Amino acid sequence: MNEADGAQVSSTATLSAQLCRICHLFGERQWCLATSGNFSARVDAGHFLITQSGRDKSALTPADLMICNLDGRPQLAQLRPSAETALHQCLYRHGDQVGAVLHTHSVTSTVLSRHIGDSISFSGYEMQKAFAGVTSHEATIEVPVFDNSQDMPALADELRQWLRDDRPPAFLIRGHGLYAWGTDLAAAQRHAEAMEFLMSCLWAEMQATSR
Ligand SMILES: [Zn+2]
Repeated sequence: MNEADGAQVSSTATLSAQLCRICHLFGERQWCLATSGNFSARVDAGHFLITQSGRDKSALTPADLMICNLDGRPQLAQLRPSAETALHQCLYRHGDQVGAVLHTHSVTSTVLSRHIGDSISFSGYEMQKAFAGVTSHEATIEVPVFDNSQDMPALADELRQWLRDDRPPAFLIRGHGLYAWGTDLAAAQRHAEAMEFLMSCLWAEMQATSR
């Protein structure tokens, strides 16, 4: 093994440990019950580490992770990636500024996305400042809601057309869940947590005003 291989092995081991820690944390919060959700981190310019299909996120170990290239092909052919790997690929292909992608199936994201239109807007919340580049709570953050077509290539196309660096690092799939990303796992975790918090606030306000 040369020095470069050694560096990749150790950085992959570090990323695996970080991914497992986030899976356990999000599992405790019940954001990925029943083996749902998928979580990934970029290993290098052409590969990312992602949770294998059907694994319990609250008990995830490094053995439950796999490496795929940006075409979604597994490094070990016998391993099975999730169908939603196509959306992770699409985000990593957008550019090196995407270093990690977290996908949750929380109750709030599932329910709220069934009761709003094609986008969800947040304004006036202090928590908005958790998003990279947002310095004022007065900004409006608009996150798209894509229909849950089950057609991953079509959904990836829809996402590709929407993606731009000046847009928020998150989208919802209706009745399904949240995708959030960032330059690294810490940024992606911050964005996912901020989105879950903001969606909970909005849902609580909708309940309060409908009485
Ligand atoms: Zn999903």
